[in-house]
Amino acid sequence: MAAGVGTILPPGVSADDFAAVLRQFEAAVGKDWVFTNDEDIHPYRDYFSILKDQNDELVPSAAVCPASVEEVQAVVRAANRFKVPLYAISTGKNFAYGGPAPNLRGSVTVDLKRMNRVLEIDERRNFALVEPGVSYMDLYRYIEERGLKVMIDTADVGWGGLMGNALDRGLGYTLGLYRDHISAHYGMEVVLPDGELMRTGMGAMPGSKAWQEYKHGFGPDPSGLFAQGNYGIVVKMGFRLMPRPEHWRTGLITVPKRADFIPLVDTVNYLSDLFVIGEPLYSSPLQSLLTDPEFQKAAIAFDEAALDRIAAANNRHSWQVELQFYGSEKSTLANWEWAKELILRAVPQANCFDGDSLKVPVTQAQIDAAEHPYPAPYTSVMRRNVMHGVPKLYMWRSPGRTDNDPNSWNETHIGLFSVVARSGEAVFQAQKDFADVVRRSRPGEQYVSAALITPLQWHQFGFFIGNSFFGTATRNDNSPEGKLKQLKELRAVLKMNAQLGYGDYRAPPILQDDVADQYSFNNHQLRRFNEALKDAIDPNGILSPGRGGIWPKAHRANRGALRK
Ligand SMILES: Cc1cc2nc3c(=O)[nH]c(=O)nc-3n(C[C@H](O)[C@H](O)[C@H](O)COP(=O)(O)OP(=O)(O)OC[C@H]3O[C@@H](n4cnc5c(N)ncnc54)[C@H](O)[C@@H]3O)c2cc1C
Repeated sequence: MAAGVGTILPPGVSADDFAAVLRQFEAAVGKDWVFTNDEDIHPYRDYFSILKDQNDELVPSAAVCPASVEEVQAVVRAANRFKVPLYAISTGKNFAYGGPAPNLRGSVTVDLKRMNRVLEIDERRNFALVEPGVSYMDLYRYIEERGLKVMIDTADVGWGGLMGNALDRGLGYTLGLYRDHISAHYGMEVVLPDGELMRTGMGAMPGSKAWQEYKHGFGPDPSGLFAQGNYGIVVKMGFRLMPRPEHWRTGLITVPKRADFIPLVDTVNYLSDLFVIGEPLYSSPLQSLLTDPEFQKAAIAFDEAALDRIAAANNRHSWQVELQFYGSEKSTLANWEWAKELILRAVPQANCFDGDSLKVPVTQAQIDAAEHPYPAPYTSVMRRNVMHGVPKLYMWRSPGRTDNDPNSWNETHIGLFSVVARSGEAVFQAQKDFADVVRRSRPGEQYVSAALITPLQWHQFGFFIGNSFFGTATRNDNSPEGKLKQLKELRAVLKMNAQLGYGDYRAPPILQDDVADQYSFNNHQLRRFNEALKDAIDPNGILSPGRGGIWPKAHRANRGALRK
């Protein structure tokens, strides 16, 4: 148990005031829904925290669970009276990005799980309006039970929820518009820091029937402020839903040479931006040669000719991408034929293999099928459940090292997700830049990789810097000192990446100040703007201080406090 859990006070709040605010919370939500003891607070800690059990672990002082908008407003008003910092969570499963833990130790967690109604769903106009506690599994079940002809775009792990995931700019796996979850949101209702209620978009117009159909309304649209921000507690949120297609089809394209990646990406971008394909899945079979000394030498030197020679000698292609098509049987076939034509025009030496061709809705057996449709040695990384919006828990097997699994290969799932431009040239440059960062940050070590790339959102690539980054000694050191060393290494890399123009899209609270530092154009004007706004609408600094690197005046001294 972390020192002080269950007994700590919110920063700057006396024991008497804390007792008084807890009484007001109880009056607002009922005695049974305010938690203060160690055991009850335990689930609001980040199980994977690098600071676990340390005196500065990001633990809340209490948790309060409102069941209605009015109760949220009452909690916010009480917190203002005593200047008590709050931290709102929806389903609270943001593991890998800090779990449910707050940015400021001693904040009171506002757990919105009890607000879990699907308020509206429309299968003709294709949207849903939900409360914060609606998980992907809840909405999936709701749709299935009613036989509605819409599908969701789920993130992993399926117990997370639409609102919390979108408010952290999470992502899914189907068509671009739907898998960029904050872009797929249409309309919010928000409890502001003074307890007032605001609706965005058409929701601001009493009597509008198009809240989930035009998200901008009129004038500035502040809805973007609530994602990775701390300007309000969102209590209703609309999402566009994909109409259920009749058919789903996949295909695999392989290209032999490293440089073929450039025209491959251009062609896939074209198909993607024309809404022809869902998420494309890139990978490189060359990763399987990482332990081959000859390959290592060529990869470290970025000797493209040698890499191509080694790939050919080992009967490997350099890159592959799997495409997925949603539509009818005929339209998906026509689109796949067209994709092949375009690819072969751009890379005549490419190979194309037909993949799955399934009537939708797919069956559970089809989703769970272990075999994939390509002839050996070609493999698929397609996960059929998320491509069909079916939430599952099985990815939970990989969250990383814990008390129960102290020797896991995965370093508590912490890592960096740097944004890279969506071109082959940018990926090659990023590979070189990152190899250089490793050389500079860990003298004597080399980074070897042929395929460091994941498509993140619709229009960008991401560069995941995870466990493979750490030296073996650091990776296997699960002591508090070892974990801190990993954190230090990540911070150093963040800084170097920023100098090279790579910024992160999302981060756990312990790294949010560092990531916010990367976005420093014009002497941190973005942060100065965000904090001026914060001070204006949240003068007591009560809502999620520190989230997104935005610190209100009252707690600004905490910026960077966790860097050690
Ligand atoms: C193995 C594994 C796989 C993962 N795969 C994915 C993936 O495919 N895609 C992906 O995006 N993520 C992924 N994640 C990360 C994460 O687990 C999910 O994004 C998860 O859905 C987030 O948790 P949640 O939905 O419960 O959000 P919450 O924890 O409820 O919310 C996240 C944050 O948003 C803010 N917030 C939440 N609700 C509100 C509100 N009502 N008002 C104001 N602010 C609020 C809070 O700061 C909160 O901490 C993965 C993690 C693991 C461990």
